[in-house]
Amino acid sequence: MVEGHVAPQGIINLRILDAMKRVPRHLFVPEQFREYSYLDLPLSIGEEQTISQPFMVARMTELLSLAKGDKMLEIGTGSGYQAALLAEMGMLVTTIERIEELAERARKVFQNLSYDIHGIIGDGREGYHQNAPYRGIIVTAGTERIEDSWLSQLAEGGKIVAPLMAEEEVYRLLVRQKESKSEDGYTDTWYDYCRFVPLLNGVKKRPWISG
Ligand code: SAH
Repeated sequence: MVEGHVAPQGIINLRILDAMKRVPRHLFVPEQFREYSYLDLPLSIGEEQTISQPFMVARMTELLSLAKGDKMLEIGTGSGYQAALLAEMGMLVTTIERIEELAERARKVFQNLSYDIHGIIGDGREGYHQNAPYRGIIVTAGTERIEDSWLSQLAEGGKIVAPLMAEEEVYRLLVRQKESKSEDGYTDTWYDYCRFVPLLNGVKKRPWISG
């Protein structure tokens, strides 16, 4: 996957490529799709959600430009694969998911692989101020705006990487770097167009099953 798909698309950072080789992606994929785990494809993980395409995971990680030991926040745990990759690279990861079922499934995989990742069930639009400030915030669902809460929880010089809505169902990767001295308090740089599931409001609990 790494040498056949991810590296040829222009990812040159060896720390990312090496970490990707060490994270067993098939453990983040539902059993019926496991045979496709090492292709460069997004795959269904249930609840109408997907595990992102490996190239996109690598690309967003590259744009964060993080160092070992940096504190990170991920919005949209999904399968947990992106969070695991960041942890594998030595980041201190907090990740938020609005769908309880997915958050719990990811938590079990983190435990089985001994990743020390802080998994939160909540609405990621609010960020998670308890662990702030972060060196990087990665938003792995398509969003219509960059929330003020994310910028305020970011360390000076830190970066938010997010797919921001360009038109319906089409997003474009934005890197917003916090620079309090600049006029807006940040600088924006635009990258690739991409597809993502949308960021939604509120928390989705398990359905209540009554006797
Ligand atoms: N990073 C994931 C891919 C995530 S898909 C991976 O590596 O597998 C996007 C995820 O964002 C979905 O699981 C979706 O439920 C979640 N999401 C959408 N809106 C959210 C919100 N407001 N807060 C937290 N998570 C959200």
